[in-house]
Amino acid sequence: MLYLDNSATTQMLTEVKEAMLPYLLEEYGNPSSKYYPLAINANEAIKKARENIATLLGCDVDEVIFTSGATESNNMIIKGIADYYGEENKHIITSKVEHPATLETCRYLESKGFTITYLNVDRYGRINLNDLTKLLLESPPLLVTIMWGNNELGSLQPIEEIAELCNSHNVFFHTDATQVVGKINLNVNDIPGLRFLSCSAHKFHGPKGIGVSLIKKDNSGLKTKITPLIHGGGQENNYRSGTLAVHNIVGMGEATKLAYSRLEKNTDHLQRLEKYLQKILIDKFGEVIQFNHDQKDKIPGILSVQFKGINNELLINKLAPIVALSTGSACSSSKPSHVLEAVGLSINAIRSTIRFSLSHLTNAEELNIFNEL
Ligand code: PMP
Repeated sequence: MLYLDNSATTQMLTEVKEAMLPYLLEEYGNPSSKYYPLAINANEAIKKARENIATLLGCDVDEVIFTSGATESNNMIIKGIADYYGEENKHIITSKVEHPATLETCRYLESKGFTITYLNVDRYGRINLNDLTKLLLESPPLLVTIMWGNNELGSLQPIEEIAELCNSHNVFFHTDATQVVGKINLNVNDIPGLRFLSCSAHKFHGPKGIGVSLIKKDNSGLKTKITPLIHGGGQENNYRSGTLAVHNIVGMGEATKLAYSRLEKNTDHLQRLEKYLQKILIDKFGEVIQFNHDQKDKIPGILSVQFKGINNELLINKLAPIVALSTGSACSSSKPSHVLEAVGLSINAIRSTIRFSLSHLTNAEELNIFNEL
């Protein structure tokens, strides 16, 4: 079966599994325990994974906080800031094309008295920097939270510019980088206004159930305070309590290392595959198809394709025995896509859109299956 739903999740790499196995079997110590080798080994493994991730994302080791994934990271950061600083300012800016982990968190905060501005986007899902600038002046928010790359369209937001704007207005900026970590070059230290970032290992061939909240220190090097989402024993610098999932953390460290050591090669491969798939679809379906995604400034390997006059769910169902596809986000698959709605597509266009998301494990020959349909 051809798996083309890599934006929903990816296959774990063998190297990642091999790195994890000892921590599921022999090395089962609790990294918060002390003195004896099992605990020390677990602690060392966490330290190594954290160092890998910090180096590859471009931040300090104590800015990497392990969570259960990006849903938790988004909740933790947005609610944590809202709770800690909400007395001073109850305005948050986000966009209409965020993942439900952000949008539903914002809706929850609305019910608690916060005002949320949902920025409009252009036809590819990018916010307008002038709209943001105007809002920052007229109604300065506590937090701006905008995703780095969109999970349905693949479009990248102008993150450096947004971060710079937030920095110059002294506003916290968080980005949900779940779809870009491991897929594009990024260095958080080069983007001074970027204070918070969320990501998740299973989107780049790591295990499920592990992610990171990156919480940058302030300009004086002091720890940024937020209210924890999970209280308890004080692990992760008191940001996130709970016994660390050593095997998963080791897996995430390995997946991050592998993704960045092969980044250029993987990107080239994905860009070539993407062009190849587009050509096959055009040759095969001609006028019936239309691409919703932008051809530039995007995550390599994500295609959003309209099959005019064809119901997407029926088509995906029909193809399911041979190819795994989706209508868009796995987290909101029962509703028409809010992302495609926000970029201005009609309900008919939304109901005929299919997302193809490739990975570096996909190869060109496999894509020929679409020629044979
Ligand atoms: N944000 C984005 C942009 C995503 O694509 C996803 C996964 N669909 C998430 C957050 C949630 O990540 P997780 O599965 O790790 O909770």
